[in-house]
Amino acid sequence: MLEAGDKRITGYLHANLYAGETPRPRIRHKTLAKTSIFNKAHFVQFRNPYRRLLLRTSQTNVSDTDWQTEFSAAVTDTNVLCRHLDVPAVNVETGYPLLVPKPFIQRMETGNPNDPLLLQVLPQPEELQETIGFSADPLNESAAGTNGILIKYPHRALVLASPHCGIHCRFCFRRCQYPFHFPHTFPFQQKNEADILMPLHRIQDGGIEEIILSGGDPLMFGDERLSEICQHIIQMPNIKRLRIHSRLPIVLPSRITPQLNAVLDLPIPVYLVLHVNHPNELNDAFVQHRRLLRSPVLLSQTVLLRRINDDIETLAKLFTALTDIGIVPYYLHQLDKIQSAAHFEVSIETGCRLIKQLRSRLSGYAVPRYVREVAGASCKEIL
Ligand code: SF4
Repeated sequence: MLEAGDKRITGYLHANLYAGETPRPRIRHKTLAKTSIFNKAHFVQFRNPYRRLLLRTSQTNVSDTDWQTEFSAAVTDTNVLCRHLDVPAVNVETGYPLLVPKPFIQRMETGNPNDPLLLQVLPQPEELQETIGFSADPLNESAAGTNGILIKYPHRALVLASPHCGIHCRFCFRRCQYPFHFPHTFPFQQKNEADILMPLHRIQDGGIEEIILSGGDPLMFGDERLSEICQHIIQMPNIKRLRIHSRLPIVLPSRITPQLNAVLDLPIPVYLVLHVNHPNELNDAFVQHRRLLRSPVLLSQTVLLRRINDDIETLAKLFTALTDIGIVPYYLHQLDKIQSAAHFEVSIETGCRLIKQLRSRLSGYAVPRYVREVAGASCKEIL
């Protein structure tokens, strides 16, 4: 458990510079302070105007937990994390720092350096190796969009809503764009209404029917700001569907608030696609909070990862658990060939064998589509 003793943290907390987003831990590479890693109030300077509103609205949460405060206390120091979990320290400077909230750490096994959740977040020496065939922008996204809007597929526009995430996944296909995750502006980060609307004009023609909010993580916005964004979107008469890609409700289940459900109750269908990679991520807290989500259609996406979920038992358990709580497994992704993440790669041959085994064990709707993205292609390739 996490409550033991004083720990050193390298992150301290500060107010977010961006309107409407949650305050986040500032990531430092040197030790700044000595405190309990459970002492969440330290160093917080909440200058964010949405903070007060969210503190009020969070009082009706299932657990009365303030997700923003939980997030602000995220661990950003590998030594703290390793000492806490009683695993060997890892000293590697990759330029893509650790970020992991404590509710996610609580699902890791103490004393197990191979814990599948730990392996997703802990920097490893293998990240320093350059691998042929892997690159900093494997999907060539920097050429695919402007002003935070990517139109890669017909009828759909991907809007990079937020440059921030609730966790730093070591295999992230945008990790080389850290700290901004992408070299473009983010329309919903703009304070001026005209600056928000200007890039959105691109979506109002060209046959676009669906908006996909991605990032970073769009749910890093507070409910009030998210509501404003949704209102902008539904005012576009050509938009018939909204899709939101997020990992935050898995990482921080308290992010699922009654207000979030209300915000996503729109006159157009809303699909919330949750990024989840291992059954251990679906703990009781998530299952309890998930019950609040009645408005959106819930789908999942999973990245096939070596040593984390590349075996039939783990995948079957994950997809069964998801369907048991009303989340339809949507995509199993082949790893994008992002530099520094080659050690996570599973061969396509293995992935196809796993999918075949899943089909013989699970209901058809419980088996996701095994896909990979190909830069410049007009759709994902089904494997
Ligand atoms: S949550 Fe998604 S976008 Fe964020 S670091 Fe993880 S994989 Fe990347």
